[in-house]
Amino acid sequence: ERVDINELMEVILKRLTPLAEKRSIEITFESFREVEADIDKVKFTLAISNLIENGIKYNVDGGWIRVSLNADHKNLYIKVVDSGVGIPEDCVEHIFERFYRVDKARSRDTGGTGLGLAISKNIIVMHKGIINVYSEPGKGTTFTVRVPMNYVK
Ligand code: ATP
Ligand code: MG
Repeated sequence: ERVDINELMEVILKRLTPLAEKRSIEITFESFREVEADIDKVKFTLAISNLIENGIKYNVDGGWIRVSLNADHKNLYIKVVDSGVGIPEDCVEHIFERFYRVDKARSRDTGGTGLGLAISKNIIVMHKGIINVYSEPGKGTTFTVRVPMNYVK
């Protein structure tokens, strides 16, 4: 299914804005290109929403999230950067595992199952893409997604 990715991103951000506003977290979106891609719209929306939801959940009150979209001739690139609590170095390699959560005590307040990132990764890989994470504890976390625009099932 051919999808306008800028439009899709706007829909996702609009849906998540109330959640962010509750904690005075500012979300900004920057797009560098018009992007159309063959994706599964429902699944792709879920994959990206999970990343931004985490950016809200594991952020500080008054923090920020910067989302960007870019593309070259072959791939689209989405980046989600947050000013949150970050992920300890020895935990980063596990966060895409099902049911993995960094801090059980802290996670209890935020709620969730530890499935979000496993689902996001599955969906991105299904689109023949890759997802990566960089994090600095106490400073924030960056998720990058690269997906080919001409994905064929
Ligand atoms: P669910 O997504 O199922 O509601 P969850 O958010 O705990 O639950 P994941 O989205 O899979 O599960 O994330 C796994 C764990 O990775 C989280 O519990 C959290 O500890 C850590 N994590 C994920 N994203 C971030 C982030 N942006 N900043 C800091 N920690 C994060
Ligand atoms: Mg999550």
